[in-house]
Amino acid sequence: MTATILDGKSLSLQVRTQLAQEVQAFTSLSGIVPHLAAVLVGDDPASAVYIRSKEKACREAGMLGSVTRLPATTTTQELLSVVHNLNADQGVHGILVQLPLPAQIDAVTILDAVDPAKDVDCFHPENVGLLMQNRPRYLPCTPHGIQQILAAYKIETTGRHVVVVGRSDIVGKPIAMMLAQKGPTANATVTICHSATSDLPAICRTADILIAAIGKPQFIDASMVKAGACVIDVGINRVGDHLVGDVAYADVLPIAGSITPVPGGVGPLTIAMLLKNTLSAARMQVG
Ligand code: NDP
Repeated sequence: MTATILDGKSLSLQVRTQLAQEVQAFTSLSGIVPHLAAVLVGDDPASAVYIRSKEKACREAGMLGSVTRLPATTTTQELLSVVHNLNADQGVHGILVQLPLPAQIDAVTILDAVDPAKDVDCFHPENVGLLMQNRPRYLPCTPHGIQQILAAYKIETTGRHVVVVGRSDIVGKPIAMMLAQKGPTANATVTICHSATSDLPAICRTADILIAAIGKPQFIDASMVKAGACVIDVGINRVGDHLVGDVAYADVLPIAGSITPVPGGVGPLTIAMLLKNTLSAARMQVG
Protein backbone atom coordinates (compact mmCIF):
# COMPACT_ATOMS: atom_id res chain seq x y z
CA MET A 1 0.00 0.00 0.00
CA THR A 2 1.18 3.56 -0.68
CA ALA A 3 -0.46 6.37 1.18
CA THR A 4 -2.63 9.02 -0.45
CA ILE A 5 -0.74 12.31 -0.26
CA LEU A 6 -2.91 14.94 1.40
CA ASP A 7 -1.95 17.91 -0.72
CA GLY A 8 -2.37 20.95 1.51
CA LYS A 9 -0.75 23.26 -0.99
CA SER A 10 -3.33 22.81 -3.73
CA LEU A 11 -6.17 22.72 -1.22
CA SER A 12 -4.99 26.03 0.21
CA LEU A 13 -4.91 27.53 -3.30
CA GLN A 14 -8.55 26.53 -3.77
CA VAL A 15 -9.50 28.00 -0.39
CA ARG A 16 -7.61 31.24 -1.09
CA THR A 17 -9.15 31.64 -4.55
CA GLN A 18 -12.61 31.29 -3.04
CA LEU A 19 -11.65 33.65 -0.24
CA ALA A 20 -10.41 36.31 -2.67
CA GLN A 21 -13.87 36.29 -4.27
CA GLU A 22 -15.52 36.69 -0.86
CA VAL A 23 -13.17 39.55 0.02
CA GLN A 24 -13.97 41.29 -3.26
CA ALA A 25 -17.72 40.94 -2.62
CA PHE A 26 -17.32 42.21 0.95
CA THR A 27 -15.20 45.18 -0.10
CA SER A 28 -17.50 46.22 -2.93
CA LEU A 29 -20.51 46.12 -0.57
CA SER A 30 -18.90 47.77 2.45
CA GLY A 31 -16.08 49.83 0.95
CA ILE A 32 -13.80 48.26 3.56
CA VAL A 33 -10.62 46.31 2.90
CA PRO A 34 -10.01 43.66 5.60
CA HIS A 35 -6.76 44.51 7.36
CA LEU A 36 -4.48 42.06 9.18
CA ALA A 37 -1.87 43.86 11.29
CA ALA A 38 1.12 41.73 12.23
CA VAL A 39 3.70 42.60 14.83
CA LEU A 40 7.20 41.19 14.51
CA VAL A 41 9.66 41.65 17.36
CA GLY A 42 13.33 40.93 16.74
CA ASP A 43 15.08 39.36 13.79
CA ASP A 44 14.38 35.64 14.02
CA PRO A 45 14.85 34.53 10.37
CA ALA A 46 12.05 31.91 10.43
CA SER A 47 9.58 34.45 11.86
CA ALA A 48 10.60 36.97 9.18
CA VAL A 49 9.84 34.37 6.48
CA TYR A 50 6.44 33.57 8.03
CA ILE A 51 5.54 37.26 8.24
CA ARG A 52 6.51 37.88 4.61
CA SER A 53 4.41 34.95 3.42
CA LYS A 54 1.43 36.20 5.46
CA GLU A 55 1.81 39.68 3.96
CA LYS A 56 1.93 38.22 0.45
CA ALA A 57 -1.08 35.99 1.12
CA CYS A 58 -3.07 39.01 2.34
CA ARG A 59 -2.23 40.94 -0.83
CA GLU A 60 -3.21 38.04 -3.07
CA ALA A 61 -6.55 37.73 -1.26
CA GLY A 62 -7.28 41.44 -1.72
CA MET A 63 -6.63 42.25 1.93
CA LEU A 64 -4.29 44.67 3.57
CA GLY A 65 -1.40 43.05 5.43
CA SER A 66 0.70 45.47 7.45
CA VAL A 67 3.69 44.70 9.65
CA THR A 68 4.97 46.65 12.66
CA ARG A 69 8.63 45.69 13.08
CA LEU A 70 10.17 46.24 16.51
CA PRO A 71 13.74 45.71 17.75
CA ALA A 72 14.73 42.57 19.68
CA THR A 73 15.24 44.75 22.79
CA THR A 74 11.55 45.79 22.93
CA THR A 75 10.05 45.58 26.45
CA THR A 76 6.68 44.13 27.44
CA GLN A 77 5.39 47.66 28.10
CA GLU A 78 6.51 48.92 24.69
CA LEU A 79 4.88 45.99 22.93
CA LEU A 80 1.74 46.40 25.02
CA SER A 81 1.41 49.97 23.84
CA VAL A 82 1.71 48.85 20.18
CA VAL A 83 -1.01 46.24 20.78
CA HIS A 84 -3.26 48.84 22.48
CA ASN A 85 -2.87 51.17 19.49
CA LEU A 86 -3.82 48.39 17.09
CA ASN A 87 -6.80 47.48 19.30
CA ALA A 88 -7.99 51.08 19.11
CA ASP A 89 -7.41 51.43 15.35
CA GLN A 90 -10.75 50.94 13.60
CA GLY A 91 -8.97 50.33 10.32
CA VAL A 92 -7.37 47.16 11.75
CA HIS A 93 -9.59 44.06 11.86
CA GLY A 94 -7.15 41.31 12.83
CA ILE A 95 -4.00 41.39 14.98
CA LEU A 96 -1.25 38.81 14.90
CA VAL A 97 1.71 38.93 17.25
CA GLN A 98 4.34 36.66 15.71
CA LEU A 99 5.67 34.04 18.13
CA PRO A 100 8.11 33.30 19.62
CA LEU A 101 8.71 36.61 21.37
CA PRO A 102 12.13 37.48 22.84
CA ALA A 103 12.67 36.08 26.35
CA GLN A 104 12.34 39.45 28.15
CA ILE A 105 8.75 39.85 26.93
CA ASP A 106 5.87 38.34 28.89
CA ALA A 107 4.08 36.59 26.03
CA VAL A 108 0.96 35.75 28.07
CA THR A 109 0.46 39.42 29.01
CA ILE A 110 0.80 40.41 25.37
CA LEU A 111 -1.55 37.77 23.97
CA ASP A 112 -4.12 38.53 26.70
CA ALA A 113 -3.99 42.21 25.70
CA VAL A 114 -5.13 41.62 22.11
CA ASP A 115 -8.77 42.65 21.67
CA PRO A 116 -10.63 39.29 21.49
CA ALA A 117 -12.63 40.61 18.50
CA LYS A 118 -9.34 41.07 16.61
CA ASP A 119 -7.67 37.89 17.90
CA VAL A 120 -7.58 36.05 14.58
CA ASP A 121 -5.03 33.54 15.94
CA CYS A 122 -7.59 32.50 18.59
CA PHE A 123 -5.07 32.68 21.45
CA HIS A 124 -7.06 34.94 23.80
CA PRO A 125 -8.60 33.09 26.79
CA GLU A 126 -12.07 34.40 25.87
CA ASN A 127 -11.81 32.88 22.39
CA VAL A 128 -10.28 29.66 23.73
CA GLY A 129 -13.20 29.44 26.20
CA LEU A 130 -15.74 29.93 23.41
CA LEU A 131 -13.97 27.24 21.36
CA MET A 132 -14.04 24.88 24.34
CA GLN A 133 -17.81 25.36 24.60
CA ASN A 134 -18.25 24.62 20.90
CA ARG A 135 -19.42 28.13 20.03
CA PRO A 136 -16.24 29.52 18.51
CA ARG A 137 -15.77 33.15 17.51
CA TYR A 138 -12.66 32.10 15.58
CA LEU A 139 -11.15 28.68 14.96
CA PRO A 140 -7.40 28.51 15.63
CA CYS A 141 -5.59 28.50 12.30
CA THR A 142 -3.48 25.33 12.33
CA PRO A 143 -6.16 23.08 13.88
CA HIS A 144 -8.73 24.53 11.48
CA GLY A 145 -6.35 23.80 8.60
CA ILE A 146 -6.10 20.18 9.76
CA GLN A 147 -9.90 19.92 9.87
CA GLN A 148 -10.09 21.34 6.34
CA ILE A 149 -7.70 18.67 5.07
CA LEU A 150 -9.68 15.90 6.77
CA ALA A 151 -12.94 17.28 5.34
CA ALA A 152 -11.58 17.83 1.82
CA TYR A 153 -10.23 14.28 1.61
CA LYS A 154 -13.39 12.84 3.23
CA ILE A 155 -11.44 11.21 6.04
CA GLU A 156 -14.03 9.93 8.49
CA THR A 157 -13.60 11.24 12.03
CA THR A 158 -16.87 10.18 13.66
CA GLY A 159 -16.21 7.33 16.07
CA ARG A 160 -12.56 7.11 15.01
CA HIS A 161 -9.66 7.12 17.41
CA VAL A 162 -7.52 10.22 17.01
CA VAL A 163 -4.16 10.32 18.77
CA VAL A 164 -2.63 13.79 19.09
CA VAL A 165 1.05 13.85 20.05
CA GLY A 166 1.68 17.28 21.60
CA ARG A 167 -0.36 19.39 24.01
CA SER A 168 0.58 22.96 23.10
CA ASP A 169 -1.97 25.76 23.30
CA ILE A 170 -1.42 26.48 19.60
CA VAL A 171 -1.85 23.02 18.09
CA GLY A 172 -2.17 19.97 20.34
CA LYS A 173 -4.86 21.06 22.79
CA PRO A 174 -7.13 22.90 20.35
CA ILE A 175 -7.08 20.20 17.64
CA ALA A 176 -7.82 17.55 20.26
CA MET A 177 -10.76 19.60 21.53
CA MET A 178 -12.10 20.41 18.06
CA LEU A 179 -12.07 16.80 16.91
CA ALA A 180 -13.75 15.63 20.13
CA GLN A 181 -16.64 18.14 19.77
CA LYS A 182 -20.04 17.21 18.48
CA GLY A 183 -20.22 18.30 14.85
CA PRO A 184 -19.00 17.70 11.33
CA THR A 185 -15.38 16.58 10.87
CA ALA A 186 -15.33 15.90 14.61
CA ASN A 187 -17.12 13.40 16.91
CA ALA A 188 -13.87 11.49 17.36
CA THR A 189 -12.52 9.71 20.39
CA VAL A 190 -9.34 11.59 21.16
CA THR A 191 -6.21 10.74 23.13
CA ILE A 192 -3.66 13.46 23.89
CA CYS A 193 -0.04 12.37 24.35
CA HIS A 194 2.99 14.34 25.54
CA SER A 195 6.52 13.88 26.81
CA ALA A 196 5.37 12.08 29.96
CA THR A 197 3.16 9.56 28.12
CA SER A 198 4.05 5.93 28.83
CA ASP A 199 4.54 3.65 25.85
CA LEU A 200 3.82 6.28 23.24
CA PRO A 201 4.43 3.88 20.29
CA ALA A 202 1.71 1.50 21.53
CA ILE A 203 -0.83 4.35 21.84
CA CYS A 204 0.11 5.74 18.43
CA ARG A 205 -0.46 2.32 16.88
CA THR A 206 -4.10 2.43 18.02
CA ALA A 207 -4.73 5.66 16.07
CA ASP A 208 -7.00 5.76 13.04
CA ILE A 209 -5.82 9.36 12.69
CA LEU A 210 -2.40 10.23 14.11
CA ILE A 211 -1.56 13.92 14.51
CA ALA A 212 2.09 14.78 15.22
CA ALA A 213 2.71 18.24 16.71
CA ILE A 214 5.93 17.67 18.59
CA GLY A 215 8.68 19.78 17.04
CA LYS A 216 11.15 16.89 16.77
CA PRO A 217 12.35 15.95 13.28
CA GLN A 218 11.06 12.59 12.02
CA PHE A 219 10.11 11.48 15.53
CA ILE A 220 7.16 9.30 14.43
CA ASP A 221 8.51 6.26 12.62
CA ALA A 222 6.84 3.35 10.86
CA SER A 223 6.72 1.25 14.05
CA MET A 224 4.32 3.84 15.56
CA VAL A 225 1.75 3.81 12.75
CA LYS A 226 -1.14 1.40 12.23
CA ALA A 227 -1.51 0.13 8.65
CA GLY A 228 -3.93 2.36 6.77
CA ALA A 229 -3.94 5.19 9.35
CA CYS A 230 -4.23 8.83 8.35
CA VAL A 231 -1.07 10.66 9.44
CA ILE A 232 -1.16 14.44 9.86
CA ASP A 233 2.31 15.93 10.27
CA VAL A 234 2.20 19.42 11.79
CA GLY A 235 5.92 19.65 12.50
CA ILE A 236 8.16 22.13 10.73
CA ASN A 237 11.81 21.48 11.56
CA ARG A 238 14.83 22.88 9.79
CA VAL A 239 17.45 20.19 9.23
CA GLY A 240 20.47 21.54 7.39
CA ASP A 241 19.03 23.57 4.55
CA HIS A 242 15.69 21.81 4.23
CA LEU A 243 12.45 21.43 6.19
CA VAL A 244 11.23 18.13 7.60
CA GLY A 245 8.19 17.22 9.64
CA ASP A 246 7.75 15.32 12.89
CA VAL A 247 7.07 12.15 10.89
CA ALA A 248 9.69 10.01 9.13
CA TYR A 249 7.83 10.51 5.87
CA ALA A 250 9.58 8.02 3.57
CA ASP A 251 9.44 5.35 6.28
CA VAL A 252 5.73 5.86 7.04
CA LEU A 253 4.54 6.38 3.43
CA PRO A 254 4.21 2.64 2.59
CA ILE A 255 2.23 1.93 5.79
CA ALA A 256 -0.16 4.87 6.17
CA GLY A 257 -3.46 5.17 4.33
CA SER A 258 -2.90 8.89 3.84
CA ILE A 259 -0.29 11.41 4.93
CA THR A 260 0.47 15.13 4.78
CA PRO A 261 3.86 16.06 3.33
CA VAL A 262 6.20 18.67 4.84
CA PRO A 263 6.36 21.19 3.32
CA GLY A 264 3.06 21.41 1.45
CA GLY A 265 0.74 19.82 4.01
CA VAL A 266 -0.67 21.59 7.05
CA GLY A 267 1.45 24.77 6.73
CA PRO A 268 -0.29 26.30 3.68
CA LEU A 269 -3.71 25.72 5.22
CA THR A 270 -2.66 27.55 8.38
CA ILE A 271 -2.15 30.75 6.38
CA ALA A 272 -5.39 30.25 4.46
CA MET A 273 -7.32 29.92 7.74
CA LEU A 274 -5.68 33.08 9.07
CA LEU A 275 -7.02 34.97 6.06
CA LYS A 276 -10.46 33.42 6.58
CA ASN A 277 -10.47 34.63 10.19
CA THR A 278 -9.41 38.11 9.11
CA LEU A 279 -12.35 38.34 6.72
CA SER A 280 -14.68 37.08 9.49
CA ALA A 281 -13.20 39.69 11.85
CA ALA A 282 -13.84 42.48 9.35
CA ARG A 283 -17.41 41.24 8.78
CA MET A 284 -18.10 41.13 12.53
CA GLN A 285 -16.60 44.55 13.19
CA VAL A 286 -18.42 46.16 10.29
CA GLY A 287 -21.61 44.43 11.38
P1 NDP B 1 5.53 22.94 21.43
O1 NDP B 1 7.00 22.84 21.62
O2 NDP B 1 4.77 24.04 22.08
O3 NDP B 1 4.86 21.57 21.91
C1 NDP B 1 5.44 20.33 21.60
C2 NDP B 1 4.66 19.24 22.27
O4 NDP B 1 5.29 18.01 21.94
C3 NDP B 1 4.63 19.35 23.79
O5 NDP B 1 3.34 19.13 24.29
C4 NDP B 1 5.60 18.26 24.23
O6 NDP B 1 5.25 17.63 25.45
C5 NDP B 1 5.45 17.25 23.12
N1 NDP B 1 6.65 16.40 23.07
C6 NDP B 1 7.94 16.81 23.02
N2 NDP B 1 8.75 15.74 23.03
C7 NDP B 1 7.95 14.65 23.11
C8 NDP B 1 8.21 13.26 23.18
N3 NDP B 1 9.47 12.76 23.19
N4 NDP B 1 7.15 12.42 23.26
C9 NDP B 1 5.90 12.89 23.27
N5 NDP B 1 5.59 14.21 23.19
C10 NDP B 1 6.62 15.07 23.12
O7 NDP B 1 5.30 22.93 19.86
P2 NDP B 1 4.07 23.43 18.95
O8 NDP B 1 2.84 22.68 19.25
O9 NDP B 1 4.03 24.91 18.93
O10 NDP B 1 4.62 23.00 17.52
C11 NDP B 1 4.86 21.64 17.20
C12 NDP B 1 5.47 21.56 15.82
O11 NDP B 1 4.54 22.06 14.88
C13 NDP B 1 6.73 22.40 15.63
O12 NDP B 1 7.57 21.73 14.72
C14 NDP B 1 6.22 23.68 15.00
O13 NDP B 1 7.19 24.32 14.21
C15 NDP B 1 5.11 23.14 14.14
N6 NDP B 1 4.05 24.08 13.85
C16 NDP B 1 3.59 24.09 12.58
C17 NDP B 1 2.57 24.92 12.22
C18 NDP B 1 2.07 24.85 10.82
O14 NDP B 1 1.44 25.78 10.37
N7 NDP B 1 2.28 23.75 10.11
C19 NDP B 1 1.97 25.86 13.16
C20 NDP B 1 2.45 25.71 14.52
C21 NDP B 1 3.48 24.85 14.83
P3 NDP B 1 5.30 18.42 26.88
O15 NDP B 1 4.06 19.27 26.90
O16 NDP B 1 5.24 17.32 27.86
O17 NDP B 1 6.56 19.21 26.88
